[in-house]
Order: sequence, then structure tokens, then C-alpha cells
Amino acid sequence: RFITFEGGEGTGKSTQSKRLAAALEGRGLDVVLTREPGGSPAAEAIRGVLLSGRARPLGVLGEAYLFAAARIDHVAELIEPSLVRGAYVICDRFADSSRVYQGTAGGLPADVVDSLVDAAIGSTVPDLTVIIDVPVAVGLARVGHRSEGADRFESDAVAVHEERRRGFLALADRFPERCVVVDGSRDKDVVSADILALVTDRFGL
Ligand code: C5P
Repeated sequence: RFITFEGGEGTGKSTQSKRLAAALEGRGLDVVLTREPGGSPAAEAIRGVLLSGRARPLGVLGEAYLFAAARIDHVAELIEPSLVRGAYVICDRFADSSRVYQGTAGGLPADVVDSLVDAAIGSTVPDLTVIIDVPVAVGLARVGHRSEGADRFESDAVAVHEERRRGFLALADRFPERCVVVDGSRDKDVVSADILALVTDRFGL
């Protein structure tokens, strides 16, 4: 079972993916919690290059190739072997982030991003994608409270964040069989209870 969390900055993906992992582990399930970009040694190295802005000279297409390269390693080294073993794999961001950040909001044509995504993930498509939706102002205010400061993408203009939000909602329409939109502006505990309920329902737990 492959579950991904998607959404903009400050939507609560990391918090909620950790909570879901803990809840499923509490039921005695084999759970692997991971994230993108990163999740395997080579992919984490690429993450460092991307988030520091060192890849910026490559432009959005070059960055898209790096996200794809990181994903190839992450899928091959961690996600696919874990799924084969029967684990629940929970990933904080996955291919849909590329569709939105490099595609919808980044300016790359959808077919270009789709072909990079397809080449990188093959048949490793999520069974369930939780899209956490939060008004941009709310998300950015949350991120602003983080001590480590903004990375290369969090500091983008508000209009870009708005476009990303719309992009994620559009993905939910494009892939309705696997995507569920969750209102992330509510209390954390309410959101995690909601997500756990939809996961247990979807997988018959
Ligand atoms: O989720 P997290 O904040 O760790 O993501 C790292 C950064 O990489 C974020 O600022 C996110 O906006 C960016 N990103 C991106 N394109 C992707 C995936 C992540 O720009 N495909």
C-alpha cells in the first residue's frame, strides 16, 4: 500500500504523515515513512542541491530532471522494495509535487512533466494521495514560524503559492480514484483523525 501526502507549504504534510505512520504502526503494521525530494542517500544528496538553490541556473526543466533523478533512486532503493515486502509506504510529497511545482506553477508543459514522472516511477503509482488544502496565507504564516527559515521554494511570491494551491486541487479532479482533498486549516487532531479514518476505510483496516 502506497500513500502519498501532497499540498503547498505549511499545509501540515510532514506532521500528518508522521501521525499516520505512528497510528498504523500502533496497529502492528509494517510502515515505512519517507519524503521527497530525498528518501534514499543519493536522493537526499540531490535534495541538498535543489533546496539550496544551487541548481537554479539549470532552470525549471533542469530542476525537474533532478527531482526525477532523485525519485528514480528513491523508488528503486526504498519505495518499491518496501511495497514488495508488504509494508505501508507513506511518502511526504511525491510525483504530484512535480506536476504542480514544475508543471502548473513552474511553467513546464504538463506532458513534459508527465513523461518525466512516468519514466521515474513506472508502475509505482500511489494507491491513495492525501492532498492537504490550506489557504495560502495560513500556510505561509505557519512556515514563517519555522526556525530554519525559508528554502529556495518557500520564499517564492504569494501568487505562485496560489497557483500551486489551485494546481493541487486540479490534480484531485484529474486523478479522482486516488486523490482525496482534506481541509488542513482545522485543528491538527481533527485533521489526523480524518486522515486515519479515510485510510482505514480505503484499505479495510
Ligand atoms: O515538503 P518540503 O518543504 O520538505 O519540500 C522541500 C521543498 O522542495 C519545498 O519548498 C517544495 O516547495 C519544493 N519542491 C518543489 N518541487 C517538487 C517537490 C518539492 O519545488 N517536486
